[in-house]
Amino acid sequence: MAQPVELKCVLCGASYAPGEVEYTCPVCGLDGTLDVLYDYEEAARTMTKESLAGRERSLWRYEEILPVVDKGSIPHLAVGWTPLYECPAVAEEYGVREFRVKDDGRNPTGSLKDRASAVGVARAIDINQRTVACASTGNAASSLSGFAAVGGIRSFIFVPEKAPVAKVTQLLVYGATVVLVKGDYADAFNLATAAINKYGWYNRNCAINPYLVEGKKTCALEIAEQTGWDLPDRVFISVGDGCCIGGLYKGFADLLRMSLISRMPKIVGVQARGAKPIYEAFKSKAERVTFGPADTVADSISVGAPRNWAKALRAVRESEGDMVTVSDEEILSAIPELARKTGVFGEPAGAAAFAGFRKMAGEGLLGRGERVAVVVTGNGLKDIENARKSVGVPMLVEPTIEDFSGQLERSGFPC
Ligand SMILES: *Cc1c(COP(=O)(O)O)cnc(C)c1O
Ligand SMILES: [Zn+2]
Repeated sequence: MAQPVELKCVLCGASYAPGEVEYTCPVCGLDGTLDVLYDYEEAARTMTKESLAGRERSLWRYEEILPVVDKGSIPHLAVGWTPLYECPAVAEEYGVREFRVKDDGRNPTGSLKDRASAVGVARAIDINQRTVACASTGNAASSLSGFAAVGGIRSFIFVPEKAPVAKVTQLLVYGATVVLVKGDYADAFNLATAAINKYGWYNRNCAINPYLVEGKKTCALEIAEQTGWDLPDRVFISVGDGCCIGGLYKGFADLLRMSLISRMPKIVGVQARGAKPIYEAFKSKAERVTFGPADTVADSISVGAPRNWAKALRAVRESEGDMVTVSDEEILSAIPELARKTGVFGEPAGAAAFAGFRKMAGEGLLGRGERVAVVVTGNGLKDIENARKSVGVPMLVEPTIEDFSGQLERSGFPC
């Protein structure tokens, strides 16, 4: 387990000692998210390609660059080391050299958010905080409530009233105190921040608490290891607040600092057409993000006021990557296509990354020789209602072979 040596502001570059500040840069305020940095030379001494090969199959295999001091603080749920499948038929169809999909819906509560919650709850226990809180479009909340439950601490969750039922149910099942906020994610975020300040709870928001992105970065570390340290040329991931994409970048950046890789893949952020402030800022080469509307079926990326825009823009710019938007129809149609061609059933925000890949490939923006990976950030069972919009209806039959055969043969289905 590692003690970070420095917290560095992404906007102004100011440097703080760990413990001096816990959340964002005091000079830049909420926009000034911090990078958690380690003694990389020291870390590289024991975290080598060889030593990693034999370690436990969870994100804790990267202990040298994770900000947890006491091993006893780690909740027992198995998180990370999700599969990265290679799908040659998809590569062939879309005209790239290699196509891989990382199924992060396989995490214990069903999304990539578990990586952040695992580290966040361990950190809270490390520093003796007994109550953790967050605002969330859904998954960060389900995830926090699960990890808080096994960590033996309390959780307060603020979600927009419209959050999918499956996600809200998950919170209640894990025993979180759930606050449905009459408003959108921005309202939930503001209320959570006010409550956290008032009651002194530990803040699990990834855009405020820099230690959480440390959990998310492990997705990149795994991609590096799972490709045998021969990284893809391009990695697609969907973008809401900007923490997941910021985490991918941080993971690759840490590996570069440790000389475990020699180049960074191009990181491509995928936003919904109805919620695309980071896309707009990137395309217009703006220095800052202007907040805009948020209207998409993909609730996990329905973010008009992204809080971690600074890390998101940096990820795309510094990796020489790109941003792309997809419509709700494109997102919904990506759900069954992804499931049928790769076996991975993603929620709308997860399938959105695949929709972004499909769109760029269709527009001829990817090279024939490119090796591509798509991160599916959340499990399809999280949002059944939207998944159903993208598929047909089942047959309804009397429990007799006559009715079944009659319907089958009338349908013209080959049997
Ligand atoms: C949270 C989430 C995202 C977006 O992550 P941000 O860090 O908000 O950009 C994408 N997909 C799923 C399934 C999520 O839960
Ligand atoms: Zn700053």
